[in-house]
Amino acid sequence: MGRPDFPKSLKEFQVRFRDDDACRKYLAACRWPEGFRCRRCGQGAAFELPQRRLWQCKACGRQTSLTAGSVLHRTRLPLTVWFWATYLVTTHTPGLSAVQLQRQLGLSYETAWALLHKLRRAMVNPEREALKDKVEVDEMYLGGPEAGLKGGRQLLEKALVVGAVEVRGKAAGRVRLQAVPDASARSLTGFVKRTVALGTLILTDGWGAYAPLPDMGYRHRPRTQGTPERAAKLLPHIHRVFGNLKTWLGGTHHGVGHDHLQAYLDEFAFRFNRRRTPMAAFQTLLGLASGVHGPTTYNMLYRSESTR
Ligand SMILES: [Zn+2]
Repeated sequence: MGRPDFPKSLKEFQVRFRDDDACRKYLAACRWPEGFRCRRCGQGAAFELPQRRLWQCKACGRQTSLTAGSVLHRTRLPLTVWFWATYLVTTHTPGLSAVQLQRQLGLSYETAWALLHKLRRAMVNPEREALKDKVEVDEMYLGGPEAGLKGGRQLLEKALVVGAVEVRGKAAGRVRLQAVPDASARSLTGFVKRTVALGTLILTDGWGAYAPLPDMGYRHRPRTQGTPERAAKLLPHIHRVFGNLKTWLGGTHHGVGHDHLQAYLDEFAFRFNRRRTPMAAFQTLLGLASGVHGPTTYNMLYRSESTR
């Protein structure tokens, strides 16, 4: 038996996750696709303690939490609210603001904001795989006076973002985005080193900061750009990503401050990389994908909860 599938429509979602009982069953099926197995004694029989969202081994009595290592751990909100919020966040293409979520689910603004914030944290996957084969890399400025909103609300202080996107024929593959302090070789090649596998063919413009790439173990094809129109033609995929990113930051969130920029970049990348697989996005976000119950993720989430 494999991992459970994902509702294909809003209606199906509503029926399937109608109450906390149904949500708990789904969590258990995601956690134990092959059926329950006790981590201590290896036995397969357990009974459920639904109130505490625990499963207890019938043989040795060891209790296993259904939600440990996920955003759902120790939440006081009903699971149905989490499921709905996650569904909306992963299937609503441009993403949701706290105000939209508040309206859709009838929550207080504070609850909606906290919920979104936790789901966003879950969008940063520390074990993500490096990009490979053929990758476009470029950087762009966000914000600044010309993009500022009227009435003294600036979209952003000018911020520099570097991005990398895989080229798969005519389509774009996965993307990585990072806010960097400057356009120096150290900042830009440092980003490449963290996000792209060695040996990858990297396409950039003629900016000198990318010159060390061949010495670092990459194949590098720099092109001189000339006009902005020409630059967009030479690196079409990353330019399309940057364009969508600008629209998204300006539209859905009405601009963000410097402090939160990286979190928004992570959210954009998460959404972009799973745009064709809402089920994977839904399960990853709830912390249900395989391997996420490891100690690293658990400690990371736990720490972020307790220092809130
Ligand atoms: Zn046991």
